[in-house]
Amino acid sequence: MSDFDYDLFVIGGGSGGVRAARVAAGEYGAKVGLAEESRYGGTCVIRGCVPKKLMVFASTYRDSFQDARDYGWEVNDGPFDWHNFAGKMRAELDRLEGIYRNLLDNSGVEKFDARATLKDAHTVKLSTGEEKTAKHILIATGGRPVRPEMENAELGLVSDDIFDLEALPRSMLIVGGGYIACEFACILHGLGVDVSMYFRGGQILNGFDDEARGLVAEQMRTRGIDMHSGASILEMETREGGTWVKSTMGKEKIFDKVFFATGRAPNSNDMGLEDIGVALGRNGAIEVNEYSQTGVPSIYAIGDVTDRLNLTPVAIREGMAFVKTVFGGEPTPVDHDLVASAVFTQPEMGTVGLSEEDAAAQEAIEVYATSFKPMQTAFAGRDDRVMMKLVVSKETRVVLGCHIVAPQAGEMIQMAGIAIKMGATKEQFDQTCAVHPTMSEELVTMRNPVRDT
Ligand code: NDP
Repeated sequence: MSDFDYDLFVIGGGSGGVRAARVAAGEYGAKVGLAEESRYGGTCVIRGCVPKKLMVFASTYRDSFQDARDYGWEVNDGPFDWHNFAGKMRAELDRLEGIYRNLLDNSGVEKFDARATLKDAHTVKLSTGEEKTAKHILIATGGRPVRPEMENAELGLVSDDIFDLEALPRSMLIVGGGYIACEFACILHGLGVDVSMYFRGGQILNGFDDEARGLVAEQMRTRGIDMHSGASILEMETREGGTWVKSTMGKEKIFDKVFFATGRAPNSNDMGLEDIGVALGRNGAIEVNEYSQTGVPSIYAIGDVTDRLNLTPVAIREGMAFVKTVFGGEPTPVDHDLVASAVFTQPEMGTVGLSEEDAAAQEAIEVYATSFKPMQTAFAGRDDRVMMKLVVSKETRVVLGCHIVAPQAGEMIQMAGIAIKMGATKEQFDQTCAVHPTMSEELVTMRNPVRDT
């Protein structure tokens, strides 16, 4: 008989926390409690990936109407009805939250709709006043968007607010050039908002392959997004007609709304972590070892609160590895290598492995790349370009990186990611017969390198 109330207490009901809780309880028979202060499903389901992707789908219809006409259909498009769409989107999120709650109930996890903080290495304090003890505690509290430190920054929206907008603004300034800034610039532009972007670097999507992000930026500009590199807000205030902004370029302008997509921070604050010896690193991230264990042996942390690779499927894998390690008796380090991801811009970018620049800094490489107008949109008279690129080790012939800029690049990179995770060589890509006519067949038909180093 355990001296604790639970074998495991999970703080945070997002993708990682829910997965760990229900597998520990359902598959390993652990007694599990879970506290969530907001809505079950976390960032991904409630204010991230899922509603974002629904908005991506909604936003692509504008091009589809025009393309349909170019393909011979008689189609009349009208204005986008945000109210109608947002109501359906919120209902879908309610449905998904219900599924998350049911998953926990069905695996026997006891839920607490409360905020939890830590009292000691085995005790959590709930905002209801209750205290619960557990042999193991798992912190899976995620992250939150942050505004830059400047006067009146609270006048700007953050990504959480976008899904709750009562109406779409006529104009929006998006500050930042990362995943969230670029995805929402494309979404909102597609929905008819006049979008401007200020990003402080020389190019959007820092850290991604230069050629790939260059093409995404070019296509975003061509579509009509007003993009400014090396630009930040100096001053902002509410004025008649919206939010007045003075930029580092010396320009002054009024936008309906300003949206800060300037990064996220781990939700580790005010939880009593440092008081009980859990170390926080840069930006408040909980420091963990390869098994997601903190310096306090009974306390583990997974997902965005550890700021390792902030992606939903990674948090889920970290949760699974934690359960296997602690309840399965099989120490399982988390594998963060060669994780494919996609940026849902228009066009999308899919990426796995090293960028050309990072690979070249590491060893001698060959680069195979092609850029072309895809058949579907070229026929409709659009100038869209796509790009397929493989970065190959000269010595081992292993494909070190794959970068795709194209409609549905997210779907394609998932498949390419399998081969690359298996360590496929360029020659093995070439042995694979093309599927014709597709865009991705270019990945197996590129004969000669365009560059080598
Ligand atoms: P990112 O780190 O991708 O981008 C933050 C952006 O804000 C960068 O352009 C950064 O500039 C800029 N920035 C930071 N501070 C300031 C400041 N004070 N003033 C002006 N600009 C600033 O963060 P996001 O919030 O976009 O996304 C967070 C994470 O969420 C991503 O890294 C990703 O892991 C995940 N995510 C994944 C998605 C997907 O898989 N499709 C979608 C959305 C999010 P600089 O580059 O110069 O530092």
